[in-house]
Amino acid sequence: MNVVLFGPPGAGKGTQAALLRERLGMAHFSTGEEFRRHIASGSELGNRIRAIVESGDLVPDEIVLEVVERALDDPAFASGVVFDGFPRTLEQARALDRMLAERGQKIESVLTIEVPEEELVRRMLQRGRSDDTEQVIRERLRVYEERTAPVLDYYARQGKLQRIAGDMAVEDVHRAIVEAIKSVTVDANMSNNR
Ligand code: AMP
Repeated sequence: MNVVLFGPPGAGKGTQAALLRERLGMAHFSTGEEFRRHIASGSELGNRIRAIVESGDLVPDEIVLEVVERALDDPAFASGVVFDGFPRTLEQARALDRMLAERGQKIESVLTIEVPEEELVRRMLQRGRSDDTEQVIRERLRVYEERTAPVLDYYARQGKLQRIAGDMAVEDVHRAIVEAIKSVTVDANMSNNR
């Protein structure tokens, strides 16, 4: 099963994806974590990525898609993935559909975690990552609205989008996410048996 955890930066996608991995054994793939590994390696590509991430901008689709394509060919992700922080542009969403179709798979469910903006800023400032200064955070939120939020419509039109209230305790959000995923699995089983 392939699931997208969607939402603005600071919504708790990484936390929730980690819980799905721990408790449900779902494979978790985060493009942001992948990029932080590149940055830590000090490679030329890593340095290029660092400059982009620290400005609050998005890494170019071409680089993102290469990283994702490689992950899809990893046996660890063969039976499904929780995508965290990907797709972030319409082009990425379309490319993901193509790449999954080539592998006889698809996105079953897209869960968008909704949190008010001031709460997002508060959470990210607390997190204290090197790309979490207030100015960069505001830029990331602006980029989210401009380039990433339109992807919601793409999935809504496919009937795959479910909204999750994210301004609750971590455990409550986790429960809501598990319920949402289960509802999709039950629907799929029912249509298979029909
Ligand atoms: P995250 O850990 O998801 O907050 O990602 C950290 C940073 O990595 C983002 O602010 C972007 O600069 C970059 N990034 C992560 N995922 C993507 C993506 N799918 N497309 C473009 N840039 C990304």
